[in-house]
Amino acid sequence: MKSTIPLLDLQAQYRPLRDQILAAMTRVADSQRFIMGPEIDALEQELARMLGIRHAIAVSSGTDAVLLALMALGIGADDEVITPTYSFFATAGAVVRLGARPILVDIDPVTFNVDPDQIARAVTPRTKAIVPVHLFGQSAELDPIVRTAERAGIPIVEDAAQAIGATYRTRPVGGIGALGCFSFFPSKNLGAFGDAGLVTTNDDGLAKRARLLRAHGMEPRYYHHLVGGNFRMDALQAAILRVKAPHLAAWTEGRRANAARYRELFQAAGLLGAVTLPAEPTDRLHIYNQFVIRTADRDGLKKHLDAQGIGNEIYYPVPFHLQPCFAHLGYRRGAFPQAERAAAESLAIPIYGELTRDQQETVVSAIAAFVRTSAHAGSQAR
Ligand SMILES: *Cc1c(COP(=O)(O)O)cnc(C)c1O
Repeated sequence: MKSTIPLLDLQAQYRPLRDQILAAMTRVADSQRFIMGPEIDALEQELARMLGIRHAIAVSSGTDAVLLALMALGIGADDEVITPTYSFFATAGAVVRLGARPILVDIDPVTFNVDPDQIARAVTPRTKAIVPVHLFGQSAELDPIVRTAERAGIPIVEDAAQAIGATYRTRPVGGIGALGCFSFFPSKNLGAFGDAGLVTTNDDGLAKRARLLRAHGMEPRYYHHLVGGNFRMDALQAAILRVKAPHLAAWTEGRRANAARYRELFQAAGLLGAVTLPAEPTDRLHIYNQFVIRTADRDGLKKHLDAQGIGNEIYYPVPFHLQPCFAHLGYRRGAFPQAERAAAESLAIPIYGELTRDQQETVVSAIAAFVRTSAHAGSQAR
């Protein structure tokens, strides 16, 4: 019998907020103000307060947030930017779009996050920025990265696209480096009804540059000081996000409770040898944008879960250094063994807040059935 448990159920989150969200959309429609204006101003103030960061700058996507943050720092041709090889494409894509060179480094196999020692070793006189990623909703190990950056006088841009509300040693991510980048892509913990993103900073000068670059470096209208782009967030998305943002903390609690329940269920099922659960160092609050497990026969497990109708996804099957579009960077297979292993072993399973205990038990039973069958097949082969 097939169950159907999606990787993410946006309907469950939308239903109780439907009236409020439609009222917010109607408010924008009736105003006929779509570009910048009061919804954007209010969202920026509300998010800056919520995140505890001085400036929040609403932008068109998480990808554009990374691009704009690097532009605000003046990153350009022949500059080097250090970033992990294991992340969503946008992180390195933004660097290459500016004509700069991503200097890729490997990850810590325990957390999937960038290895701070490798960042320290990758610094050269041409390094102009370090871009750690807070992968799957958990902060990278920032203290040693901040020490490297300060010693070399290099700014940090935090790619916090997956980590809104996560903390590192009680400090909110996105406010620790020079700039932070967030995404409101629908599958992120705070999702818009389409594309939207945010740049954050505690630096007044960088905030001013980012705001200018967001709209073609224009101030006042038709006087251009810098060559920027159109990186504005739609007022409609801002109005929707204003309804959803106050619920983020409760949604995060739901995801964290589900993560804790998975830990109990996997242990009770005797799966902790065959499956590795996400690590949770105590000095950082994980917001579980994804709950990513590891197992040797990942592809077999994926096939099994697909057949059972249990949502799952590989984040990410190909690290940056093996992507065809980055072949010119000259990296070889084997260059970053931890990222390559993670790409072969990792699998995300459903973790959204509305997931029920029954559904979680179904997920864990399905994984247990797979592990038992493959262990049996293995012993017969011997
Ligand atoms: C989602 C994501 C982005 C890009 O965000 P979009 O809003 O989809 O453009 C950038 N970096 C990471 C790590 C992401 O997960």
